[in-house]
Amino acid sequence: MTDKKIAKIEVKRDLCIGAASCVIAAGTVFELDAENRAIIKLAGGKKDSGPADKTALESPAISDEELLTAAESCPTAAVYLYAEDGSQIYPQP
Ligand code: SF4
Repeated sequence: MTDKKIAKIEVKRDLCIGAASCVIAAGTVFELDAENRAIIKLAGGKKDSGPADKTALESPAISDEELLTAAESCPTAAVYLYAEDGSQIYPQP
């Protein structure tokens, strides 16, 4: 894994097929919405596809490893992870 820390998370909703692998891998961060696409759970009960700051998550304590596992579990690579400097961590550019 990269040594960069994950700062932002995004779900590319146009790529999401509702397979729910990310929800199984990281249910505190992702859920499926009424359109059967993944959405990110933010503090205060907000939901957004992002890019969302990791610190704004409903459960910001999630480890980078868990987030990466969730992103890697997506069959269409619809979960994008970014570092603080904006560079893309996953999928590997
Ligand atoms: S794993 Fe990918 S395709 Fe499945 S719900 Fe999550 S983002 Fe969508």
